[in-house]
Amino acid sequence: MSDIEIAQQASMQEVTSLAEEKLGLASHHIDPYGRFKAKVSLEVMDDMASKADGKLILVTAISPTPAGEGKTTTTIGLSDALNRIGKKSIVCVREPSMGPCFGMKGGAAGGGYAQVVPMEDINLHFTGDLHAIASAHNLLSAMIDNHIHHGNALQLDARRIVWQRVMDMNDRALRDIVVGMGGPANGYLREERFDIVVASEVMAIFCLSNSLQELKQRLGEILIAYSVDGTPRYARDIMAHGAMAALLKEAIKPNLVQTLENNPAFVHGGPFANIAHGCNSVISTKMALKLGDYVVTEAGFGADLGAEKFINIKCRKAGIKPDMAVVVATVKALKYHGGLELKELAAENLNALNTGLANLKRHLSNLQNEFGLRCIVAINHFVNDSDAEIELIKTAVKEMGAEAILARHWAEGGAGAEALAQRVVEMLDADAKPCQLLYPDSLPLWDKINEVAKRLYGTGQVVADKKVMDKIAMLNEQHGDIPVCMAKTPYSFSSDPSLRGTAENHTLTIRDVRLSNGAGFLVVLCGDVMTMPGLPKHPAAERIDIDENGSIVGLF
Ligand code: ADP
Ligand code: MG
Repeated sequence: MSDIEIAQQASMQEVTSLAEEKLGLASHHIDPYGRFKAKVSLEVMDDMASKADGKLILVTAISPTPAGEGKTTTTIGLSDALNRIGKKSIVCVREPSMGPCFGMKGGAAGGGYAQVVPMEDINLHFTGDLHAIASAHNLLSAMIDNHIHHGNALQLDARRIVWQRVMDMNDRALRDIVVGMGGPANGYLREERFDIVVASEVMAIFCLSNSLQELKQRLGEILIAYSVDGTPRYARDIMAHGAMAALLKEAIKPNLVQTLENNPAFVHGGPFANIAHGCNSVISTKMALKLGDYVVTEAGFGADLGAEKFINIKCRKAGIKPDMAVVVATVKALKYHGGLELKELAAENLNALNTGLANLKRHLSNLQNEFGLRCIVAINHFVNDSDAEIELIKTAVKEMGAEAILARHWAEGGAGAEALAQRVVEMLDADAKPCQLLYPDSLPLWDKINEVAKRLYGTGQVVADKKVMDKIAMLNEQHGDIPVCMAKTPYSFSSDPSLRGTAENHTLTIRDVRLSNGAGFLVVLCGDVMTMPGLPKHPAAERIDIDENGSIVGLF
């Protein structure tokens, strides 16, 4: 059965009863959006302020491959398994962007028997958060052009406007455009660009803010343009941030839905994982920590990027820490890292697997030794995996000082991941030192980049043109205390996506840096980053349809 068929057969619990029964929430905390989705009031945080936080489990992975790893699927499956063994667990994942649904096949709500539902709603429109974020973003864009049109009191340089426009659709025709055509009544002619909504800095701010007031303040800090004499201008200078925050007042409340097994799930916020930090909202994670004893969450890409940003950006700003990490690996993906091509992955190949294990080894060592984070490896089981291959991973992981557990949640739901859940609980019950940040706020920006590259990627040398070095030095004077957000290919430890495995001793070239002043991080560009995807020759949209009963078909 396809993911959507499984999802459509789910027997869902009404969201109000789910909230009361499984989270202990009162009816005034819940704002239902239909029968199976709800916004949860931020008052919960005040009402539960005295309650101790639950344990935070971060699901991360080896470097992604076209063979797929299944982080979201494992995040959901583990939370279901924890609930099955009697623990109060909540899953926290990102909410999908709509654009990619119409492009390549591949869901963002889990897969098989480990999914969050209602999956069609979650993938399309959901509770309107992305629309709200796009509106807030584009309000600022409109106010910038309007400011210039009405006399330009701030002397904004139309050639140096750094705030673009956004839309939640994969549309390559909008990557580079011209606006303001049609004469003086229509503003000033200038080059403009559209990004997809999840690439908006508003999305990153939305996900990093601890409260509505912090959200507003951060929106005000957004860098919008430089004036003709080079002075930076911010959203607050044109008084846009109040209205932007007003547009987000409902969106900022976490979205409550459920897994196929009727366990609570927060699906809220979803920034890009390259030019932003790639995690669900701080507010939903913190709320889940108050409402559950265990919170299972996911970070995008592999652990070199996802877990690194989760800890160094999200946790640093939110004042939280993961209690352990689950590192997802698959036989197929490890064989791919061992040099095989996609069509060769189905057959048993212990040699390639053994070579590919180097990738897992490096990620594990990074998490355990550089962050001091307890780890367990989840082998996400695929039908073609051989027993010998599974055994080889288990033995190798043992030699690395950790444990690998086979998990069959994709095929069996929570029941298939019970062994994993048991070990997770045992590990969390044992004492351990808290995990640590990789670098202090006070370290200069260039040194932060070097710490991440040398300690996590195994980079030999970090290089940049003088122009880029000067820019970093200049930014360091005023913004030296912010974390860095590495925009590097996820497919390799190096910046060359074709170098699989560990890519030892490579040189990392920093092409440019960009300040996300509102979000409060420095984006470090180590390669080309696509912020407006296109659609493939035969987009998934050609197959998506609605049948005579009003059911959606063809969506994954
Ligand atoms: P990630 O979060 O790492 O990007 P997902 O969990 O979203 O990955 O999974 C990507 C795709 O792979 C989904 O379509 C999912 O159904 C599929 N998938 C995940 N695990 C398995 C598995 N064990 N067997 C077959 N397909 C799987
Ligand atoms: Mg995912």
